[in-house]
Amino acid sequence: MAGMVDWILAKRSGQELPADVIRQMIAEYTRGDIPDYQMAAMLMAMWFRGLTEAETVALTEAMARSGSVIRPEDLPPGAADKHSTGGVGDKTTLVVVPLVAAAGVPVAKLSGRGLGHTGGTLDKLAAIPGFRTDLPLPRLLAQVHHIGAAMAGQTAELVPADQKLYALRDVTGTVDSMPLVAASIMSKKLALGAMNIVLDVKVGRGAFMPDLAAARALAETMVAIGTRLGRRVTALLTDMDHPLGRAVGNALEVKEAIAALAGHGPADLVDLALGLGSEMVAASRGISPQEARGHLTQLLRSGAALAKLEAIIAAQGGDPRVVENPDLLPQAPVVEPVTAPDSGWVAGIDALAVGRIAMDLGAGRKHKEDVIDLRTGVQLAVHVGQEAVAGRPLAWVHAANPDAAAKASARLRQAFTIAGEQPPPRSIILDRVAADDPTP
Ligand code: URA
Repeated sequence: MAGMVDWILAKRSGQELPADVIRQMIAEYTRGDIPDYQMAAMLMAMWFRGLTEAETVALTEAMARSGSVIRPEDLPPGAADKHSTGGVGDKTTLVVVPLVAAAGVPVAKLSGRGLGHTGGTLDKLAAIPGFRTDLPLPRLLAQVHHIGAAMAGQTAELVPADQKLYALRDVTGTVDSMPLVAASIMSKKLALGAMNIVLDVKVGRGAFMPDLAAARALAETMVAIGTRLGRRVTALLTDMDHPLGRAVGNALEVKEAIAALAGHGPADLVDLALGLGSEMVAASRGISPQEARGHLTQLLRSGAALAKLEAIIAAQGGDPRVVENPDLLPQAPVVEPVTAPDSGWVAGIDALAVGRIAMDLGAGRKHKEDVIDLRTGVQLAVHVGQEAVAGRPLAWVHAANPDAAAKASARLRQAFTIAGEQPPPRSIILDRVAADDPTP
């Protein structure tokens, strides 16, 4: 197969592309030798035809090697990494990274900005006054060696092929292809060097994957790719029908993450952080997730995990006093309660609706270039399974002005489903996918 037109024709007719063709194509595209219009045609052919496991592995590896890479030996031994497919109120990284670092498992966490109704860890970190997220790679690595963890923004030198391809997929209707999503996520994880990778694949209304079967297929593909490429990968499928925790919005989420590290976070957030964290520690240490969970629970109780967050903030130029005094975080000028119209039980809180309301309050971006208001968002007063009392708050809207607050309040009330009966208890972790699972 001689060149891009032949490769497009081959893929269009359903042939499997050899690994060396995929490598050459990604290298040429990253250099700018293949134009976007040809790659757009290839992506669409891939979207319709799908990719075999061998093609997905080759694509992942080629993308991972398209720029600078952190090699496993650049990191301290036993390093672990996590990735979330994105959700509403998902501040888990802010809890998990200091938590597992306090357990002695090093983490070099690179995160992205939020887009649409899902938030990005990078924006949440920006709410900490003075906190630097633009760490050059050598400085990031030095910090991980020194204090066991760093949290920063993905740099342009890492996985440039994914940055180009993702932007092209975004405007050609080819984002929602399972193998392309899997290759995109796993290429970034491979390039970051950690041998132990835990994936949080969100399922539900507020997630990229709305149903459990699709999410499981994505998780299985990513676990298979990572395993084929020599990494230990586990995925948890987790609920995103409802927002995670009670805070949605950047400064509000940092405050909630601090509360979780101080041992009084909302049950679903703490359970998820312990679930993901124990998989990271278990993979790194070769112990069982149950044993790791016991250890991590102790670190939340003792204050060691919170102290690690304080050390990370100080190392990255942020104001470490926010840990003791979260009121130093930016605060919205208008805080308005949204009250329950009737008494009953909270049976549902629509994560997608809450994510969109928070975005419209300024907490998220509709377009890539939008500037975020770090102060704004939604704070839930009650969560699913709890009692709602007529006239009492269901939530508070944190807004930049009274007009924005009024608009958001009316919509937020609609996001709640109040029922006559208490719904059955829900579990945040729905399933686990690991490489050693027997195939059904
Ligand atoms: N997240 C990613 O990093 N890549 C995708 O393709 C989709 C979600």
